[in-house]
This record gives sequence, structure tokens and C-alpha cells, in this order.
Amino acid sequence: MLGQMQDRPLLVSSLVEQAEKFHAEQEIITRTVEGPIHRYTYRDMGLRSRKLAQALQALGVKLGDRIGTLGWNTYRHLEVWYGVTGIGAITHTVNPRLYEDQISYIINHAENKFIFTDTSFIKILERLEPQLQTVEAFIIMTDKANMPDTSLKNVMCYEDLIDAQDGDLVWSTFEENTAAAMCYTSGTTGNPKGVLYSNRSCVLHAMASAAPDVLNIGSETVVMAVVPMFHANGWGIPYVAPMHGAKLVLPGPHMDGASIYELLNQEKVTFTAAVPTVWLMLLAHIEENNLELPFLDRVVIGGSAAPRTMIETFEKKYGVIVGHAWGMTEMNPLGSLGTMKASMQDLPYETLLDYKCKQGRGVYGVEFKITDDDANRLPWDGESSGHLMVRGPWVVQSYFRGEGGKILDDEGFFDTGDIAHIDQEGFVQLTDRAKDVIKTGGEWISSIDLENAAVGHPDLAECAVIGVYHPKWDERPLLLAIAAKGKSPTKDDVLAYLSDRVVKWWVPDDVIFVDELPHTATGKLLKMKIREEYKDYKLPTY
Ligand code: AMP
Repeated sequence: MLGQMQDRPLLVSSLVEQAEKFHAEQEIITRTVEGPIHRYTYRDMGLRSRKLAQALQALGVKLGDRIGTLGWNTYRHLEVWYGVTGIGAITHTVNPRLYEDQISYIINHAENKFIFTDTSFIKILERLEPQLQTVEAFIIMTDKANMPDTSLKNVMCYEDLIDAQDGDLVWSTFEENTAAAMCYTSGTTGNPKGVLYSNRSCVLHAMASAAPDVLNIGSETVVMAVVPMFHANGWGIPYVAPMHGAKLVLPGPHMDGASIYELLNQEKVTFTAAVPTVWLMLLAHIEENNLELPFLDRVVIGGSAAPRTMIETFEKKYGVIVGHAWGMTEMNPLGSLGTMKASMQDLPYETLLDYKCKQGRGVYGVEFKITDDDANRLPWDGESSGHLMVRGPWVVQSYFRGEGGKILDDEGFFDTGDIAHIDQEGFVQLTDRAKDVIKTGGEWISSIDLENAAVGHPDLAECAVIGVYHPKWDERPLLLAIAAKGKSPTKDDVLAYLSDRVVKWWVPDDVIFVDELPHTATGKLLKMKIREEYKDYKLPTY
């Protein structure tokens, strides 16, 4: 027997409608690309999103069309998200930090009809324009006064488009599985693949993310969305904030420590989220200038492993609770978050810190399993490492245009490509990316654990560990390290430090000091490139 409740579609437009109805006066603050701080309300945002939707309809945009964006976190970019998705078209956030040939590849692959861009990315688009096969026009997210000179053909001014409309539009109704947004994977191997989020997956993800044990966002929260909207849907924060009427602060193009700090304090931000690199810059700025974080209550760190020292500094020195999160583009993106449980209340801080360094426990809505190479489930004992697999309503089913073929196992789980173990409390601990694991004498060494241990050395700023050929052991770890500013650690220092922290057979066979390390467009170490560069490196241990 079926239940007899209404089957209303879960649509992204309901989020902006909710904000307009119940939180019309709540503010959205942006540090604009042009420079000044811009303030307006959810009422304004709703009206202007509808005007934009009208303009898109006038341009012939229809259900299922893909509309690209190259934009920072700003109020205009937010309006594009809602305006596009609200009429059943798809917001395709293009990561402007990708290599240019990847940008043109994904715009063509997604067949973007229009591109919304900030003035910051005009030069990139000018270079790429001859290769872009489907783009009818570029809409520059600025006003008339700030329109740049450009060789781009078919350019429109965003504010002109908005001004020409009256906002008298009712959001379209369509099936909830209609695609809402799209992101491409960062593509460290092969071409990037498109992930199509549905209206349903975005709304369910927002509902689950807002919960107290997850992001804990409500109308009293002041949210700063630092994670870029072009990284896996900005971790869903631009959907969660309007859903609950949270004041929303958008940092625009300025992600340096001083700019972030200024906004955090001026706007009395209580919650924020970003990758570790951003927090490194913020903490360095705070330490150098002897500052405090008087308003910030919580920070979510994800995208790469949050270093132990970073978690400890936020919590002990500045009283800011850290939620260490794991997720991916293929998942809308949240999978797990490290909120402590009631049963852990009395644990000593060092033990809590051990849990906080893990990638958190699965949020409601995502099922986890870990499997060995033969697809057998492994126990959640905090030791058995295997392939991390996920299933749920905001986990990818297949890539855009079927790239990569069948990507789910027989039980419908998606292989994340991460290697992890899960403990009895349900906390996931990533030990590596499957392809980054160092296989030595038939055993696995976690390159992430080794990097984390090494970067704890006070004279090191950043580390990467890769496996290189060894005739006896197959592979042995090689550590590449960047020295901290003004420090000159030696190989012996570093190896001695590591010998006290990891088992003997994990200690790298060599240490090379480098000036920089390559990163992907989302700030992750580009291990593939490092491996390529050192593939013929001869270790001194044979
Ligand atoms: P992306 O799709 O670019 O967001 O990358 C997702 C991948 O980033 C995951 O599969 C992990 O390998 C990595 N990742 C995300 N969050 C974390 C974290 N908290 N710690 C370590 N790695 C992470």
C-alpha cells in the first residue's frame, strides 16, 4: 500500500522562494569584483533572479540548456544560479583555475549556450573563443560603467539584461529529477567528467547539510561562503543559506588572509567553510598581526586533509570548533563530517583531536562501505583499509554523456577512488587515493599519513610523498618538502623527526627540498605530475 501524501517536486527555486517569504530583510554581503562591498537582501536577490530568468527566456534558454559560469562568489553569481535553475536550465560552474584547454574542453563537452563571466576571466575567454563551438554570447557580470574593452564577440552587460525586465515571473514547475547544476571533476587523469546534480539532489543535500550535527545552519547563523561556487557547488552552502535565511557573506575574488579576516570581523561571521590552504593563509595573517577571532564559532575544513596543528590552533587558541569534512564533486558534495557525539563528551582533548583529524562520520543520506580488492566488505574496526564506496540520493549514478561507462557496483555503490578505514564510531579515516598508495614489499604505506606527519615538522611548510621504484621493495617513499620561510632543515633532521612518529618501514628513503609543488585547480597536490617528474629517480638506498 502506498502512502497518501502529496508528491510535490523538490525544486531549487523553492529555496529562494522560502528566503523571500520568510527572510526578505536578511542580508547578503559581497566583496565585489569591482572592489566595494555590496549589500542587499533576500528580497532583492529573489526579484533580480526572476528578472534574470525572464532575460534568459527572452534569449531563448529552455529546459535542459546548459549555461556556463566563470565567476567568484558574488551576489550576481548567486542570482545566475537561481535564475538559470529556476526555469529548468542547468548552471554549469566552470572552474577558471583549470588549464585553458580543459576549460574549452568542458565548455564544448557541456555544449554551453551562454557563458556568464566575471571581468577577471575575460582574457581567458578571449584566448579560448575561437575553440568554443556552442557559445552564443558572453554575459559579463558587471554594470555598464565597468564593462571592459574586449575582443569577445557577442557580449552583453549583466545589469542591462536585468534592467530590461520587471521580475513578474513564476518559477517553472518540472520533475524534481531535472538537472539543476553541473560540475566537472578536476580531471587529474584523462579528461574531466561531467556530474549533473538534480533539483532533488540539491534540495535533499541542503536539508541534510543544514542539520545540527552537520553544518548547523539556521536563521541566526552568519555564513561566509569562502569555498568557491565553482568547487562542487560551493559545498551546497549557497543553497543552505537561503533555505534557512542565514545572513550570507560572499568574499568575491579576494581569498587572502587579510581580506577574509576583515570580512569575518566586520560582518560578525559565525560559520565558514573552505579548503586548508585558505585557512593556512588566514591563520598566518592572524598570528603575524596578533589578532583574534571574536565572532567565529565554527569552521568546516575539507577538500584535502585538515592538518592536526590547524585543527588544534583553531580550537585551542581561537575557540573556533572545527568540523573536518569529506566529500567530492561526484556527490553534491558532502559525505562525512566530524561532529563529535554525546558519548565522546568526557574524552580527553588529545583523543578528541584524533577523531577530529579523521574525515568525520557519514551524514544522514549517504551510505558507506569499504571493500577489499575482491569487493568483499571490510569490518568497521578502525584498521582494515580498503576502497571507500558510497551510495545515496546525492551520489552520482553516471557521468554526463555516459563517460566512463558503468560506474556503480552491483549494490549501486560508487567507488570514490579513496582508500580509507572506518572505526567503530563510524568515523572515516582516509589513508590515500587509490592511485597514490605506496606499495612496498606487499604492504601499503599511506602517503597522506606520511605527509601529515612530515608537515608537523616546524621547519617544513608543505610536503608530498610519492612511491618510487626500488628493486627489492617494489616501491619506497620519497619525501619532497618545501622549507618554511627563513628555515633550512636538513634531510637528517626530517628523517629523525619522522622516525619518532611513524613505524620504521614507513620512514622515507630520501628527502628532496624543493621550492614549489604542483597543485590541481582545486588546490590538491598533483601527485601524477610529481610521480612523472621523479619516475626515474634513483633512491640512495640501493
Ligand atoms: P573533488 O571532487 O575535487 O572535490 O575531490 C574529491 C577528493 O578530494 C576526495 O575523493 C578525496 O580524495 C579528497 N578529499 C576531500 N575531502 C578530503 C579530506 N577532508 N581529507 C582528505 N582528502 C579529502
